[in-house]
Amino acid sequence: MKHYDAIVLGVGGMGSAAVYHLARRGQRVLGIEQFSLGHEFGSSHGVTRIIRLAYAEHPSYVPLLRRAYELWREMEGTAGERLLVITGGLDIGPAEGTMVAGSLQSCREHGIPHEVLDAGEVMRRYPGYRLPAEMAAVYQQDGGFVLPERSIAVHVSAALALGAEVHGCERVAGWSVEGGVVEVRTDRGRYRADRLVITAGAWAAQSLPLLKSLAVPERQVLIWTQPLRAEAFTPEAFPIFNMEAPEGRFYGFPVFSVPGFKLGKYHHRGERTDPDAMYRGFDREDETVLRAGIERYFPEANGATLAMKTCMFTNSPDEHFILDAHPEWPQVSVAAGFSGHGFKFAPVIGEIMADFAMEGGCSRWNLELFRLGRFA
Ligand SMILES: Cc1cc2nc3c(=O)[nH]c(=O)nc-3n(C[C@H](O)[C@H](O)[C@H](O)COP(=O)(O)OP(=O)(O)OC[C@H]3O[C@@H](n4cnc5c(N)ncnc54)[C@H](O)[C@@H]3O)c2cc1C
Repeated sequence: MKHYDAIVLGVGGMGSAAVYHLARRGQRVLGIEQFSLGHEFGSSHGVTRIIRLAYAEHPSYVPLLRRAYELWREMEGTAGERLLVITGGLDIGPAEGTMVAGSLQSCREHGIPHEVLDAGEVMRRYPGYRLPAEMAAVYQQDGGFVLPERSIAVHVSAALALGAEVHGCERVAGWSVEGGVVEVRTDRGRYRADRLVITAGAWAAQSLPLLKSLAVPERQVLIWTQPLRAEAFTPEAFPIFNMEAPEGRFYGFPVFSVPGFKLGKYHHRGERTDPDAMYRGFDREDETVLRAGIERYFPEANGATLAMKTCMFTNSPDEHFILDAHPEWPQVSVAAGFSGHGFKFAPVIGEIMADFAMEGGCSRWNLELFRLGRFA
């Protein structure tokens, strides 16, 4: 049976970065992915993912974000291609709401340059937006998006070049720890390793049952529509946004790489799901939920539907990530529960998982917000 320093279970957004960072540190690493690399059944497809520094969710994310920006740029150099597109970002909502207040708190605590704009100023600068007078926005110049499919491809390619092994189309059926060594069983074979890193996304609870109520998959849908005024929705003219609206939380992107203005809504229709049985098509109700946001706030993008895609969030109870060692076996660690906002962090999560694997669940970062113990 082949023996590795580390096995990474699940080679999607986070697993691909973990494989790369382990390989970069000279580890003999095997990544195992149940589908073809870059598949569309998980959480890391759909061309673009927002990245932003003014982090309304919690100021504790900001140091990790700074490192993520550094690593995205470094990876662009390694791969020789663009992975990060800066458009500026808008956090929009009622002036006293959680989005604007949370974004401002992060900016103030971490000295992040920003501007507070009223609805009129947003519409004057960015004609794609139509905001009600009671909304305000925090503009932050570093907002933009990263490219998830390319990220997985370049992290895996760079890891292979460093000697890592990656197996696609191989499903992990189970793992155990005996005599301090991890044994992983798949539908193709058995492998041993000193460390196991679990980055299984929406399937996390299948590989780690203690996550059953802590990493809960939820069906999401994205839409791309034809802008009626193309020039208002280019990356130069349209900053990415997160918007706290009476209908829920919308987010969206300028037209990039594929045709259409892209919009999604957090917790779309509130549908918990089973990742092996989720309905991956879409229906009229899915479109109606998303159209409501486009009609009201982006009427100049309210043209024909060009594409729709389903995807999964994996929600933790407080919507903060889960990054920790296994409570019983320190040689097993997990990154899960990214709750719909994880992708921008992928390279720094890769680094953290390499730290965990090599230093028994420790890392140089303050990860208190993300520990499993908070749910006890
Ligand atoms: C619609 C949508 C929009 C989003 N927008 C943003 C955004 O704008 N910005 C942002 O930062 N984040 C965003 N997110 C969240 C972000 O995309 C996720 O947090 C991130 O992709 C999670 O990566 P992951 O590696 O955990 O999951 P995945 O990329 O799904 O990877 C998990 C992998 O593990 C594999 N696996 C699982 N079990 C096994 C097994 N037993 N054997 C082998 N392989 C296995 C799976 O097949 C999968 O490939 C969004 C998510 C969605 C769904």
